Amino acid sequence: MTFAKDAHALVELLEHYRRESAAKARPVTRLAPLAKLIGDLDLAAITREGQLGGERLSSFVERYLACTTRLHHPAYLAHQVGVPHHAGALGGFIDAFTNNPMAIYEMGPGAAAIEFFVINWLLEKVGWQPAPLEPSGEPLAPCCGGGVLTHGGSLANLTALAAARSRAAPKVWAEGGSGELAILAPAQAHYSIARAAAILGIGAQGVIALDADARGVVRPDRLPLAWERAVRAGRRPVALVANACSTAVGLYDPLREIGTFCREHHLWFHVDGAHGASALLSPKYRRYLAGLDQADSLIWDAHKMLRTPAVCTAVLVRDHRTLDEAFQADASYLFHDKDQPGVDFIHRTVECTKAGLGLKLFMVLGALGEARLGAYVERQYDIARAAYELIRSQPDFRCPVQPQSNILCFRFQDLDAEHLRLRDRLIAAGSFHLSTTSWNGHWHLRLVFMNPDTGLGEIRDLLEEIRRQARAV
Ligand SMILES: *Cc1c(COP(=O)(O)O)cnc(C)c1O
Repeated sequence: MTFAKDAHALVELLEHYRRESAAKARPVTRLAPLAKLIGDLDLAAITREGQLGGERLSSFVERYLACTTRLHHPAYLAHQVGVPHHAGALGGFIDAFTNNPMAIYEMGPGAAAIEFFVINWLLEKVGWQPAPLEPSGEPLAPCCGGGVLTHGGSLANLTALAAARSRAAPKVWAEGGSGELAILAPAQAHYSIARAAAILGIGAQGVIALDADARGVVRPDRLPLAWERAVRAGRRPVALVANACSTAVGLYDPLREIGTFCREHHLWFHVDGAHGASALLSPKYRRYLAGLDQADSLIWDAHKMLRTPAVCTAVLVRDHRTLDEAFQADASYLFHDKDQPGVDFIHRTVECTKAGLGLKLFMVLGALGEARLGAYVERQYDIARAAYELIRSQPDFRCPVQPQSNILCFRFQDLDAEHLRLRDRLIAAGSFHLSTTSWNGHWHLRLVFMNPDTGLGEIRDLLEEIRRQARAV
């Protein structure tokens, strides 16, 4: 059982897997029952006997790969999980091998430096001031931004909203709250916002819904109404959340108008850009994020639209002090305040041991360069528009919302909840993997264009397959 030999064998298997998936030679996914998989993978015997190397390892990995959902398959259209660039996977491999949990600098100086660099790169894309590389001896300038990478967008939303709460109600950290705070958020907000509110002691009931138009996009003219609803309920808003873009249908809230409202009300403005912040890299689509620079915080998933393996999310703030104080009062000067060289990220995170997440994103950036990564985002947004035109030109399909991102919802004939069964049949047939969403009171099929190889050919085939499978539902 040697490392190098096993690793070489694995690379061969993975390369074969990628080619086979890209060529659609295997089903995009196959949902076998749990007990069957545990048996097929021979987990109990392997656990008993050990010795998972050499031929035995190869055989196990082959069986494992046979029961994966194949993101490299061009008919993978289901969820917002990135099709990883192999360079990002190698970054993850290096990080797993070296295991440098870099939240304190001495446990991973290189990983911490990469995280610092990547955060600054992202801050610049937003239009916020990057952090200086050297301690100046003075407190960091208030205008300089800050950030940290977290294990996923849900944790990132929690981190950003903790910073918002600490700023608006600093005493709650020590004393706890008593149900007097609120967060204003779109009804279409990701569920992690309500969870964060509950975890932060604001309560899921403390999330006050913003009024939206028929597409679910926030109406800036109605923002004062949500504020008044919160006040009438005896609550004080500590943050307002906007979607960029929403999870279900991929639409962007009007950030500029919302930012103006927040400024007038001294309200923390948090933008959930888990999926859609990557449009900042596209000259064509960055306009959807106009006004983002007025926000106080932003979350941005690299494992969605930046070809980075899960998970890698940035929490970014316009003023670094707000993040430094998220979990600790009077912590503003911690970041560069060390006798040893370097910076510690640990006071900015929920996590204690934290993977060197920056390496995965950095290696994708290094392989593609930022322009080609931006071109990928733009291409995925473009293909969703082309699919929209194609689907709505069919007499038996409807597309209720013109897409802004790479998420597209549609309906077949007059089906509603039957779409759920239709999706199950499509998945069981193995030729397409797509999702569903309930939107405006009706069930829709939902496509997320993540794979750079997915083209209109797949969509034409999908429509035919839907017509075939729908006869049976
Ligand atoms: C995906 C998503 C999240 C959650 O991010 P995870 O990385 O999956 O935890 C939050 N908000 C929005 C808008 C999302 O699309």
